Amino acid sequence: MPIENKNRSAAEDASLAVAEESRQTEWTSKSLMREMFLGNFDVSLCYPYPEQDPQDKKIGDEYCAKVEAWCQKEIDGEEIDRTETIPAHVWRGMKELNLLAIKIPKEYGGLGFSQQNYMRILSVIARYCGAVAATLSAHQSIGVPQPIKLAGTKEQKEKWLPKFAEGWVSAFGLTEESAGSDPATMKTTATEQDDGSWLLNGEKLWCTNSVVADVIVVMAVSGKKTSKSGREFNEISAFILEMDTPGVDILHRCEFMGIKAIENGLIRFTDVKVPAENLIGGRGNGLKLALSTLNDGRLSIPAISADGAKEVLEFSKRWAKSRSQWGRGIGAHEPGADKLSKIASDAYAMAALSDYCAALSGQGKDIRLEAASAKMWNTEKLWTVMDTGLQLRGGRGYEKSSSLEARGENPFPYERALRDSRINRIVEGTTDVMNLFVARECLDFHLSNAAPLFSSKTPVGEKVATVAKCAGIYAPWTIGLFMPSFTKSFGQFHPKLRPFLRKIDAFSKKLAFQTFKNMVLLGPKLETRQLFMSRVVGITVDLSTMALSASRVQTEIDTTGKEDNLETVLYFLRATALKVEQTFRELSDSKNCDAQARSLAKKMLSATEALPDSDTSHLTGYKVEDREYGKDLTSGKIQRRKREIERGFTLPSGMSDEAVEAVEGAAK
Ligand SMILES: Cc1cc2nc3c(=O)[nH]c(=O)nc-3n(C[C@H](O)[C@H](O)[C@H](O)COP(=O)(O)OP(=O)(O)OC[C@H]3O[C@@H](n4cnc5c(N)ncnc54)[C@H](O)[C@@H]3O)c2cc1C
Repeated sequence: MPIENKNRSAAEDASLAVAEESRQTEWTSKSLMREMFLGNFDVSLCYPYPEQDPQDKKIGDEYCAKVEAWCQKEIDGEEIDRTETIPAHVWRGMKELNLLAIKIPKEYGGLGFSQQNYMRILSVIARYCGAVAATLSAHQSIGVPQPIKLAGTKEQKEKWLPKFAEGWVSAFGLTEESAGSDPATMKTTATEQDDGSWLLNGEKLWCTNSVVADVIVVMAVSGKKTSKSGREFNEISAFILEMDTPGVDILHRCEFMGIKAIENGLIRFTDVKVPAENLIGGRGNGLKLALSTLNDGRLSIPAISADGAKEVLEFSKRWAKSRSQWGRGIGAHEPGADKLSKIASDAYAMAALSDYCAALSGQGKDIRLEAASAKMWNTEKLWTVMDTGLQLRGGRGYEKSSSLEARGENPFPYERALRDSRINRIVEGTTDVMNLFVARECLDFHLSNAAPLFSSKTPVGEKVATVAKCAGIYAPWTIGLFMPSFTKSFGQFHPKLRPFLRKIDAFSKKLAFQTFKNMVLLGPKLETRQLFMSRVVGITVDLSTMALSASRVQTEIDTTGKEDNLETVLYFLRATALKVEQTFRELSDSKNCDAQARSLAKKMLSATEALPDSDTSHLTGYKVEDREYGKDLTSGKIQRRKREIERGFTLPSGMSDEAVEAVEGAAK
């Protein structure tokens, strides 16, 4: 239950109601981060570190080697970036390797791989081309396969899942011009018809793969709901929609600074008829389904980010070893040593966080907090790691890979990788929005206990009962936060790791108390104190990455007897502990500029004119005419071309006779 806040506007109330309605309320297993936030550092939740099951790893090793060999032969990331197109032979290869059905069970023709192997395969592909990885990820991390796997009926699974093994491409349509991070402002409507079917009307923006997709999952407003507190808000449902349904138009193919070859479009729906059986997860459960899809779905971005950081590390070490200036290797100058250590330790911690989430996801654990944190933390870290590596590379870091290669230099593609990776901090939940999500989940314990106290609608009797209940819960809890953890000696850890584990334990208690104290002092105002909460979240995630890094390195020592990564982890632990101490100081208003920022921004905004509204009325349609896409026809692509013929477009000149015949046959 959210805290009642009289200062909220009606729009804020509606946004909150939609977010709360789609929230998964129950916890199915214990979470390291949630416990950490409540002052309980439970090391058993991360130690021994959960490594991938050896049998599953073997399957992944073999397939990753196969995919890597294919990437080496077929994927030219620089060329794909230059032409902004994924060529037909890459589409063909994806289909032949069944990469459009990695997690789809074997009984439906998919590879039936685990979440871990899925993430590993995408990471291999991302090393060669971010756009190809993004295409595959949009298709199966958030596109049609995952929601059907999670919430589809038997009939839906039997109908749709086999299509992806045949090469069908899918997309996910949530965002609109007015509905970015906030789905409450969604305008696309789904109106139920007498025969149970639905009519879709509206526009979806930035829908990755939509330009070439065969099928898409669309979120639309299907009615109104009233929350327990009497607020009316949009009911959102999810629909499977075949893209060749009359009334679906791609208005524009969007172009970006990176991952330039993604087929990302602005779509318009005009009276599009969707059969009743294409509703997924039941009426009104669309957003909830999208969020539970994202619990696992958003794990591919942190995995790709962790792998990217590892690549930067390997290259940076070799570069620092090769390059000398001012009479010394650049890694021997102190700033160079600092950069190398930061890259190495961050890369280790990123992998520890991402692999932990993957392993827990494989065990069916509740990872919503850890997954969101991994998305937020790893994408922010990758950006810093990449920028640090680029700086160490000097001018060559700024030069295009093709130019470096043409003049005989190692073509490590910093320039492209930096552009490509920038999007990771925005899609599937921006960093700020992930922060809000984690903060909400972290506060859940307190909100579910104490929220009635902050509501003017709570009857006095209930308030008294809540106070009594809270006293029973919080008195022992608060005392526990100030008791030394006699039982936590962390004796199973290397002596050099133990002081840091004790620090994590102490910091975790301090964090829990500080947050609770501020919640009591600020009451409803806490909701708007996002900078305060983002520091609280930042500390929780930092402490968790410290715990995971320590646990992983100890598990490595336990199983191999080797301490190869110990120094890297000790560097990370010390650097992060110092950062956490600084963040604790900034929780106090006298040590931050938050109030000034609020006041300064208010002043700036009151004196500024808003931008004019956007306008899509001039857009009539987009055709994929002259691109290679389409030579590689699968059943889905035939539909796409068929639709183009119906709209009067001519087929691309390069298509084989066979392909033209197939399309024209389908169009008749
Ligand atoms: C390349 C690309 C691919 C994409 N693919 C897809 C796709 O396949 N399907 C799909 O549905 N969407 C897709 N998107 C959309 C993407 O998910 C959105 O861009 C993202 O959700 C953010 O929405 P927005 O850009 O409208 O930003 P806004 O929500 O307008 O946010 C603007 C800024 O305000 C901040 N902000 C917003 N709300 C808050 C808040 N409450 N508190 C603090 N800060 C806040 C944000 O963090 C951000 O910094 C894609 C976008 C791009 C660029």
